Formats: sequence, C-alpha cells, structure tokens
Amino acid sequence: MTEPCDVLVLGGTREARALAERLHDAGVRVLSSLAGRVSNPALPVGEVRIGGFGGVTGLVSFLADHEVRLVVDATHPFAATMSDHAVEACEQAGVPLVRLLRPGWREHERAGEWTWVDRIEDAAAAMAELGERPFLTTGRQGLTHFSDWRDTWALVRLVEPPEEQWPHWTILRTRGPFDAGSERALMKEHDIDVLVSKDSGGALTEAKLEVAAELGIPVVMVARPAERAEVIVQDVRAATLLVLEVLAEDDR
Ligand code: NAP
Repeated sequence: MTEPCDVLVLGGTREARALAERLHDAGVRVLSSLAGRVSNPALPVGEVRIGGFGGVTGLVSFLADHEVRLVVDATHPFAATMSDHAVEACEQAGVPLVRLLRPGWREHERAGEWTWVDRIEDAAAAMAELGERPFLTTGRQGLTHFSDWRDTWALVRLVEPPEEQWPHWTILRTRGPFDAGSERALMKEHDIDVLVSKDSGGALTEAKLEVAAELGIPVVMVARPAERAEVIVQDVRAATLLVLEVLAEDDR
C-alpha cells in the first residue's frame, strides 16, 4: 500500500532540503526524491525515497500511485533529464509543476569577461586555448569530455570519486561551500591559470569567480541547459508560498 503525499520534491540540492523542511513545518505531506548518486547524502526532513523512477512512464505511475497533488522540481540546474521528465510526466498526469531554480551567473558582474560555451563537450577545447594549469569544477559526470587532457596535469574538484582513473590529475574530494580565502590559497598553491565552471549559480560556490578575477585567471563557463517548465521560481520562500497557494486552491 503506497502512502499518499501532497507534494513530491525532486531534490538533490540545498534548496530542495530547505523547501522540504518548510513544507513539513507547514503541515504538508511532502516526499523528497533523490537520485542516489551520492554515497552519503544530506537527507531532507520528512519522507524520502531514493533512486530513479524509470523514465517518464515510471514517474507518471508514481504520481498516480502516491496521489501527488503538486511536483516541485528542485533539482540542480544541470539535471536536465530529470527536469525534462518532470515536465512530460506532469503534463501527462495533469499534475501542476513548479520549477525551483536558483538564479545563474549570467548577470554576474564578471560574466562578460568569461568564455561561455553552450555544452560541457565544448569546454575542454576552450580551456586548452586559455591555459595550461586548469582547475575543473564542473563535476564528475562531464569528465569524459576532458579526455584529450588525460595525459596533462589538472586540478579537479569533486564530491564523489571519479568513475575512471585519471593518473595525471590532482583530484580533490570535497563539498562546498568554499570561501574566497580557501579558493585563493588553492588556486595559488596549484598555480592555476584557467578555471572551468558550470553556470550553477548560487552564493555557495561563487567565491572562485571573484578570486579568478582578482588573480587574472580566465574562466570558461558552461551555460545552463534550456528550461521547459512554465512556472519557475527562484528561491525557497517563493516556492513555499506558491505551493501553499496551489494546495489551498485545490482544497476549495
Ligand atoms: P539527470 O541527468 O537529469 O537525471 C538522470 C536520471 O537520474 C533521471 O532520468 C532519473 O532517472 C534520475 N534522477 C535524477 N534526479 C532524480 C531525483 N531527484 N529523484 C529521482 N531520480 C532522479 O540528473 P543528474 O544531473 O545525474 O543529477 C542527479 C541528482 O544530483 C539530481 O537530484 C540533482 O539535483 C543532483 N545534482 C546534480 C548536479 C549536476 O551538476 N548535474 C549537481 C549537484 C546535484 P529515471 O529516468 O529512472 O527517473
């Protein structure tokens, strides 16, 4: 017998955890969903499930089985497959969808100085044009796109260990937030001359961009994938208010 829930939060971000907590405190039956990629995830309060749904069809069935009234897609800005699936499944199931998406760095005061690429596939070539001692902060999943750099040194920061061996790279396993002091020390220690980042946005990993500017280090920035959700809110407070409003409307 599956338990009904009011709101399904697609998570894996700090914002998703904060939203689950607020909704839980407001008495909403909230179920958070995690992909299960991280070995020791920070768990949100309330009910949690872990693992994929089995594509759009699986998610449509899940929404029906749990009588979900509203979905909040609070996944990372680069979790494009999950976000696309959420749009399609919610459309098919007739369940409202809210996308919680933190603002990106397009409006950052330094954004005009960076080399923007549309896809992570293009970041390695841009990086190779700009420097010889790169600092890669684009995460574990896109590393294969840097395989031309396999025999050359790079500093790579990851939460989880890489899926394959990169014998010439220095792999740092750590989780943010990172402040300017530690970013400055790290970039100086390794004599970094190009920084590669995704446009994840948010204050917690932003310090590296200021430090790069200060040290004259060029930045390659991978642009965000397109968003398909119709309703997008930028912060947890706005998401909470909207969820409560939609549920109240639905109760009438
Ligand atoms: P993705 O490529 O968009 O998703 C691939 C598949 O993983 C989805 O089709 C889905 O499987 C499953 N999945 C993803 N998020 C899920 C969730 N919250 N609950 C249940 N299943 C989920 O996703 P990703 O980029 O690998 O990200 C995975 C998770 O890590 C997300 O929750 C995201 O918020 C978090 N994260 C991602 C990044 C990043 O840079 N991509 C950074 C930080 C955190 P099915 O098709 O079987 O349903």
